[in-house]
Amino acid sequence: MNKMNRRTLLKYAGTGIAAGAFAGSIGKVMAADLSDASEHSSNSGFKGKIPFSLIIDDGSPVDPLFYELPGYETPFLVPAKFTRRVADTFDHFNLRGKFTLIPMPSCLGRIDQSLQRVPQDHLIEFLKLMRERIAPKFDITPEFLTHLSSYDLKTGKYQRHLYEDSWISQAPEEEIVEYFTLAFTILRNVGIESTGITSPWVSGIDVENKYAKALGNAQWNVFKRKLTWYFLHAASDNEPPVQCSVEYRDPERGQVVVSVPSNAGDIFWSMDISPDKKVRQKMINDGIDRLLSPDGKTGRIHQLIESGFPVVIVTHWQSLFTQGTEQGLEGLIVLADRIQKVFGTGFEWVTCSEMARRYVESQG
Ligand SMILES: [Zn+2]
Repeated sequence: MNKMNRRTLLKYAGTGIAAGAFAGSIGKVMAADLSDASEHSSNSGFKGKIPFSLIIDDGSPVDPLFYELPGYETPFLVPAKFTRRVADTFDHFNLRGKFTLIPMPSCLGRIDQSLQRVPQDHLIEFLKLMRERIAPKFDITPEFLTHLSSYDLKTGKYQRHLYEDSWISQAPEEEIVEYFTLAFTILRNVGIESTGITSPWVSGIDVENKYAKALGNAQWNVFKRKLTWYFLHAASDNEPPVQCSVEYRDPERGQVVVSVPSNAGDIFWSMDISPDKKVRQKMINDGIDRLLSPDGKTGRIHQLIESGFPVVIVTHWQSLFTQGTEQGLEGLIVLADRIQKVFGTGFEWVTCSEMARRYVESQG
């Protein structure tokens, strides 16, 4: 349990640090980064509307934390009614970004076949909602295969003690290509054309060159895509932000592989702070205010825009679901509404692949 908590926290921990942290030493680190950012051109170089993206990790017809954190109390199946409400929220605010669809969620089987303990009609309805309601607005990517134990491509068995983050560190490049190719194929089999991939936890951060190249090859195998991207790097709202970057090029194919980071931690991840609804609400409200103050004048989003870093916000399927209470989704609605009121026609929600495309274009 501690190991999984650490994995979660490493990448996403919402921060307990109050607004204004930028005034301190982190502000200095950022100032140093800024001159670098302006040289490389960036979002600030884009003409017209400022692009925003919303990343939702860990999407699945079951709550992935049911198995990831033994003892975690949550409805095992995420009801279609909730998934529909999420889709309605996307429609209402015209949200765009990336949504994960885990190909073999919690090692229960393949979503293009069947999942243990999951009624087939529940799976089919979830996939239909993904195709018809989410895919038109969001890139849909796998998050490796299981977001848990790695899958042995030769034996077809799950390697219980080798989680996917440890697996990729030691796997030969060819095996990673095959692994990602299977992930894209499973999604394609259910009618989803993935533009890129998402790392579970911070998988691949120690072998990023191998990872980026393997992704390029797998995307070429399945889709012949010249531009592909991945989500691995994430900064909380009190950490120096991260720029998009080209991590691999294949000149013969004319292919580029882009890293698209998130620059605000998951402010809706309230599940492990307290079971108390009010305590969770305060944490979520504070997070929203840190991203964009109630008067709309300050906050992380402004800092990102002014310094030319991509406005990419991450959350999770589990955070929105909040053990069936939907408290996180309520928070997302408040945030999206505030963004809409403050930025009006000056911004637009875009997919992460569009974020990647504009970044590459800005590099000439
Ligand atoms: Zn994840």
